[in-house]
Parts: sequence; C-alpha cells; structure tokens
Amino acid sequence: MPDPSCSVTTRRRWLGGVASLFTGSVLAAPTAGTTAAGAGGKAFRFVHMTDIHVQPERGAVEGLKQCLHSVNALPEAPDFCITGGDLIMDALEVGPDRLKQQWQIFDECIQTLEKPVYHTLGNHDVVGWSAKSVIMPGETDYGKKLFSDRYGQGRTYRSFDHQGWHFILLDSIGQDPVTRDYLGWVDEEQQAWLKADLEKAGTSTPIVVVTHVPFYSVWGQMNGDPRKGESPRGLVNNAHVLRKLFAPYQVKLVLSGHGHVLERIDFHGTSYIQGGAVCGMWWKGPVFGNPEGFGVVTCHPDGTFAYDYHGYGWKVVKA
Ligand SMILES: [Zn+2]
Repeated sequence: MPDPSCSVTTRRRWLGGVASLFTGSVLAAPTAGTTAAGAGGKAFRFVHMTDIHVQPERGAVEGLKQCLHSVNALPEAPDFCITGGDLIMDALEVGPDRLKQQWQIFDECIQTLEKPVYHTLGNHDVVGWSAKSVIMPGETDYGKKLFSDRYGQGRTYRSFDHQGWHFILLDSIGQDPVTRDYLGWVDEEQQAWLKADLEKAGTSTPIVVVTHVPFYSVWGQMNGDPRKGESPRGLVNNAHVLRKLFAPYQVKLVLSGHGHVLERIDFHGTSYIQGGAVCGMWWKGPVFGNPEGFGVVTCHPDGTFAYDYHGYGWKVVKA
C-alpha cells in the first residue's frame, strides 16, 4: 500500500527544499498553465516511474515488485503508467549473458503491473553505446533494437492520445560518433516526426512530453560550481531546437529522469519535472533525501495538471 503520509512528507520536503532555490510563488503552484485547452475528456491520472535500474543484486527485484504493488494499490487508480527509461541497470557496458538476465528480470516484474504501460528509452537500455562497451558495433544486440522490439512496438519514440491530452515519448539518446559514448540528443529524423506529430495534435491540445534525459536541470549546479556546464551526457544538448518546435503548442509538462533527483522548473507555461527514481541511488539509498518512488500526475480537462511524488517505503538491502 502507498503510504499517504510519506507522499505528503515528500511533497513538503520538495517544496521546502528545491523550491527555495527559485521564486517561491512560481514553484509553489501545484499546477501549470491555466489557459483554456482543447481537452474534452474527464480528469484522469497516470503514473510516471523512472530510473528503475533493475538488477539481481541489492534486492532490486523485490524493490521493483514493491514499487509496482504500490502503484497497483493506489487508492485513486491511474489509467496507465509511463516508464521514464533506464529500465535495467545497464546495457551500455555488459556482455550478452548479463544483458539477457536483466531483461528477463524486468519482463517478469513488469507483468505484475495491473495497468497498461508505455516505455521510454533510457541510456542504460541501449546496448554498447559506451567507450567501454563489451558488445561492439555490428553485433546483433548492439544499439536500441532490444528495447524497441521488446517495449517500443518496433520504435524508440512514439505518441498517443488519452482523454483529450496528447502524450509524446521521446528518444533522447544520441551517440558521439568518435567516442561511441551516448549523449543527450534528439536527432533530425525524430525532429521531423515530432513536427508532424505536433501539427496533428494542434495548438489547443494539452501535451505531455516524456524524455529520459532532461532538457533542463539544476542538479549538476547543486553539486559544484553553479557556473559549470553540464556534461554532454547530462542534458539534451539540442533542447533549444525542441523548445522552438514546442513553442506554438500547449506543452504543459515535460517529464524526465536520468539524474535520479526530484526537481521542478516552471518556465513560460511549461513545467519541467525530473521525477526522482524508483531505484533511488542505484538501490543504495535516497537521493538528496528524496525516497525511492514514482510520480502520479492528475490531468484535468482544462489543460492543467497536478504532480505528486510517492515514496513506496523501500528499505535498502546491504550488498
Ligand atoms: Zn539515464
């Protein structure tokens, strides 16, 4: 069962902590965007659970099952769930056996979820896109194929509609052609698809975008010199191109993961929320005091939304 007191505590901690970095009035607002929108349905909820990183170690299998049980037991049931990427611990730097073992575990666990689920690609779900890769270019499993075949219906990005809202799941994982490392990037082919998809959605439909790598974040700045830039792997490098593409549309919410922190940036009618992590700090404990958990988003017919983060009560298992 989800612990409502935990959720409230978490929300307080979030508003009292990260919000104080900004002008409180903007961040304290539970919803974003008040303009009339084209949503014609009824209010509904969905779950955003990101950075699961399931693995055989540290009780992660039990942890994921506990998280999914918590989602199943939510008193106000979501219509569906979206995962935010990094479903398995790592595909970037492992061999075929370890790779299969992790996907098998994920497959087994996710079957316990009682709601439909849409999956977003994370960097750790991509095989071998690392300077330290074990599986090399040209080998069968190299790249994004395992994810797209298994959980993307043959694709790494897509969109769908629900109750008058439009949902876009982006593939935010690019590759440095020299080092073969991944980086935050939305390529031109996807941009062309996105442009057409947005035109189809129209300028009055409220839109939720889900990306693994965040467009914007302050967590890197919190860790060191705030003037220091983020690494090419930390943020979507061409986020400015996307912001231009999104500008004429009602993009209410951009959900991300990747940094495992819980933070919210409200800017020009769009809320950018990085949704914590199911695994916390890779199953080693909370991140900046934020517990292992998931987000519940309530979408209203007028194009506004509310976001709540739920801890699921995980206790760290020593290695
Ligand atoms: Zn990631």
